[in-house]
Amino acid sequence: MGDRRLCIAVDYDKCVGSKICVLTASKVFALNEDRQSYVIDPRGDTLDQILAAAEGCPMMAITVRDADTGEQLFPPPSLLAKMV
Ligand code: SF4
Repeated sequence: MGDRRLCIAVDYDKCVGSKICVLTASKVFALNEDRQSYVIDPRGDTLDQILAAAEGCPMMAITVRDADTGEQLFPPPSLLAKMV
């Protein structure tokens, strides 16, 4: 619940409904009727919890950006570079 505005996206092509994000940041993520995660409130939990949820996703389906600056907070660009 910080002041930072976040843009959180879930890639439905990757999400397998493992629910880890929901368990880690339950006020931000929920599962829809197709058992895929969606964002209910991007300000519901702390940034640390949201980043932990994104990090814990086994499918790397969650992207977190600073909504004002566009800075990508997760996955970190350095990690993406290693995956290429
Ligand atoms: S942790 Fe990842 S795969 Fe699991 S429900 Fe959340 S977004 Fe989907």
